[in-house]
Amino acid sequence: MSERAIPQVDPRTPVLPARVPSIPIVASGRLQDTFARPLRDLRISVTDRCNFRCSYCMPKEVFGKDYPYLPHASLLSFEEITRLARLFVAHGVHKIRLTGGEPLLRKNIEVLVEQLSQLRTVEGEPVELALTTNGSVLARKAQALRDAGLRRVTVSLDGLDDAVFRRMNDVDFPVAQVLDGIAAARAAGLDPIKVNMVVQRGTNEQEILPMARHFRGSGIVLRFIEYMDVGATNGWRMDQVLPSAEVVKLLQQHFPLRPLDPTAPGETAERWAYEDGAGEIGVISSVTRAFCSSCNRARLSTEGRLYLCLFAEQGYDLRALLRGGASDDDIASAIGLIWQGRTDRYSQLRGQQAPDTGGGRRRVEMSYIGG
Ligand code: SAM
Ligand code: SF4
Ligand code: SF4
Repeated sequence: MSERAIPQVDPRTPVLPARVPSIPIVASGRLQDTFARPLRDLRISVTDRCNFRCSYCMPKEVFGKDYPYLPHASLLSFEEITRLARLFVAHGVHKIRLTGGEPLLRKNIEVLVEQLSQLRTVEGEPVELALTTNGSVLARKAQALRDAGLRRVTVSLDGLDDAVFRRMNDVDFPVAQVLDGIAAARAAGLDPIKVNMVVQRGTNEQEILPMARHFRGSGIVLRFIEYMDVGATNGWRMDQVLPSAEVVKLLQQHFPLRPLDPTAPGETAERWAYEDGAGEIGVISSVTRAFCSSCNRARLSTEGRLYLCLFAEQGYDLRALLRGGASDDDIASAIGLIWQGRTDRYSQLRGQQAPDTGGGRRRVEMSYIGG
């Protein structure tokens, strides 16, 4: 085996009860945490399963054939997800992203999309609904998703070289099928389409330029993501991180770029435009530039646990409230209490501490709460 140290741990973290406060917290759309950060963005993981085994996310050594995925009865139903989503939206959420695991593996996912697309923000606008996928079955699903009300999609693709990509997804999946999925998304009218590339030094940095060349001028926004120390199973090391600043420097040598202003508060990507008008790229510097001070994101796991940070060590059990007969007001109050007590700012603190591979700690896995 390589030098990667992969602890054999159960990635699921301890669960905390979601308490209903004695004084109700009415959803006013203006909820804030202890650092005055609003709740704007909700990521919902609809499955903990995936047909890829990207080594940085679900390494085969851990997610093997005996891995104990959640049983079907543990998963939130579409009705439960939609009910919770509605309460989050009442608290101020404007954007919902479906993720996983691989969200398109959840049976009839378009039915959930249809339900969520009906939601309106406190200002009465449609909620911005998005989905992140590995693209493997997008060619088959794109039109149904669009018809159900999905507007935007993000496809993960870590390189154009077939051998590199097959190695990274570790299930020998070809690039061409993901590109077919992107083409189908475009033909179905999904817009904007974004492509996420996780850059790992020593693995796929040679793909940065070919990816930029391929997507330049296509209307598709390519975003380079720093390899993160999320979870406890990917054997992360700082020397595998290629800082976004180096990505931008490399691109600048070939295609002059100028910085763009953020489009939304709390936006994670730093945007750059090609000077020649061929569109834009983004860099997400999760490791080298902490964006905790504006982090307005909550995460709902497949089994209904609320996580306040990608690096959280525990989640709050909203499913127990749902299935225990709690009223909407009670659940909204419980969500309010949890968010008001939020102190999470892992990335900001990481910069002040020794690097941590997560070994021995029970940090939640990305495939479980979604990226
Ligand atoms: N399966 C879907 C996919 O791959 O798009 C959705 C779930 S995946 C966990 C969401 C995003 O997280 C993907 O873009 C993936 O590349 C990214 N990701 C997973 N592990 C990561 C890590 N350790 N560092 C940075 N990004 C990661
Ligand atoms: Fe699956 Fe997405 Fe994780 Fe890759 S990054 S293993 S596609 S969940
Ligand atoms: Fe948000 Fe946690 Fe990431 Fe900071 S580390 S930006 S709090 S998810």
